[in-house]
Amino acid sequence: MNLKDKVFNAGIVGCGGAGFPTHVKYNANPEHLIINAAECEPLLRTDRYIMLNFADRIIAGCEAVCAQLGAKDCTIALKSAYTEEIAELEKAIKAKKSAVKIHTFPSFYPAGDEQVMVYEVTGKVVPPSSIPLEVGCVVSNVATILAVSDAAEDKPFTHKYLTMTGEVGEPTVLHVPLGTSFKDCLKLAGGANIEDYFVISGGPMMGKPLTKEQALKSVVTKTTSGFIILPADSRLPSVHLTPVEHTINRAKAACIQCSYCTELCPRHMLGHPIQPHKIMRKLASGSIEAIADSEEAINALLCCECGVCELFACPMQLQPRKVNSLVKKELAKRGVRYQKEDKEYIANANREYRKIPTKRAANRAGAGKYYDYEIKNCKSFEPKQVKIPVSQHIGAPAEPVVKKGDSVKCGDLIAACPEGKLGANIHASISGTVSAVGLEITIKK
Ligand code: SF4
Ligand code: SF4
Repeated sequence: MNLKDKVFNAGIVGCGGAGFPTHVKYNANPEHLIINAAECEPLLRTDRYIMLNFADRIIAGCEAVCAQLGAKDCTIALKSAYTEEIAELEKAIKAKKSAVKIHTFPSFYPAGDEQVMVYEVTGKVVPPSSIPLEVGCVVSNVATILAVSDAAEDKPFTHKYLTMTGEVGEPTVLHVPLGTSFKDCLKLAGGANIEDYFVISGGPMMGKPLTKEQALKSVVTKTTSGFIILPADSRLPSVHLTPVEHTINRAKAACIQCSYCTELCPRHMLGHPIQPHKIMRKLASGSIEAIADSEEAINALLCCECGVCELFACPMQLQPRKVNSLVKKELAKRGVRYQKEDKEYIANANREYRKIPTKRAANRAGAGKYYDYEIKNCKSFEPKQVKIPVSQHIGAPAEPVVKKGDSVKCGDLIAACPEGKLGANIHASISGTVSAVGLEITIKK
């Protein structure tokens, strides 16, 4: 069986983002394989922990994927500040006499954006609304590569490394079975320091906001890279909880057309025609629906929702990202898609000077207090019960192949990717008895 089939069987999806099924991504023949090890989001430490502790497995995974794809070379791209991680990777490269290369850049946000990373490593601009393959690259996250390394030994994707930080007793990296509750994770991190908290699943810039009540019902999935516990009255909760009407009214009243949102937009800096200030200008005299009718609206589809405009650039604390996302939804309703142009895109000459230092991004997002900390240890844990969602990836939900009362062992297939559809298999993450089957499969030890 080739590696791609093993990756499919193991149910691997991209660990760093939306959960795109990895076997589909690997159905390509790129020139370059790039490993995203930037750990782009401020505050997360998961990828750094993995690199420090599993460098040899990562290099083995890189070589296996490189051979499967037939890529000419493989480059691990990360921040030059990760000196210990770089040393571990270099040691593993030397020990294996591997041809894997390391590419470093300063700590800036969003270094881990796929298109930004491709430009940093190759100097090529991925055209708007295209994928890195368009310029001969496949980008895979370093945590995904570790999972692939397991898949090569026929081990399915059942556990996840994640960061617990913010207002917790002891910031830590955890290694837990998929379906472990947020509550259990919080306990392992020493509990919350404050009663009234808000949670970001992922990083502060692009993570998914969860109220305390939502967080207490959530579980670790294949795409959970961390949970950040923040005071309910800090900046991020107020940004995320602002009602849409309020966002729109403020944008109409307060946008001073300074265009900082455009000048600092990482996709605009790559030469893409996205100009959020123009969308905000249109909003001053109309509704989201009216913007969707305009010529400018189509460029909102190029927004990767990195949050730079909203959390860093705008001096009026407006929300171009949220406005773009509303315009995108309206265009999707109308079935409008971006029409690619056959032309060459050139990055803006000022791009180098407009990179945002990661720590400043954390400070502006109101999470700077939690930026400087070190994690050396990881806590492993096996809960008494897991609730594993059948949809934790892009594509069709997996179809359960177990029923209530079945006994399962850790690693058994419990839900299969529907035949011929985009999706991923799901496996039991603990051994026990299936106690419920629905949108989640519950297993009790
Ligand atoms: S969120 Fe803002 S800064 Fe980021 S890509 Fe979209 S418009 Fe540009
Ligand atoms: S940065 Fe803020 S105020 Fe300036 S143009 Fe953009 S949305 Fe308007």
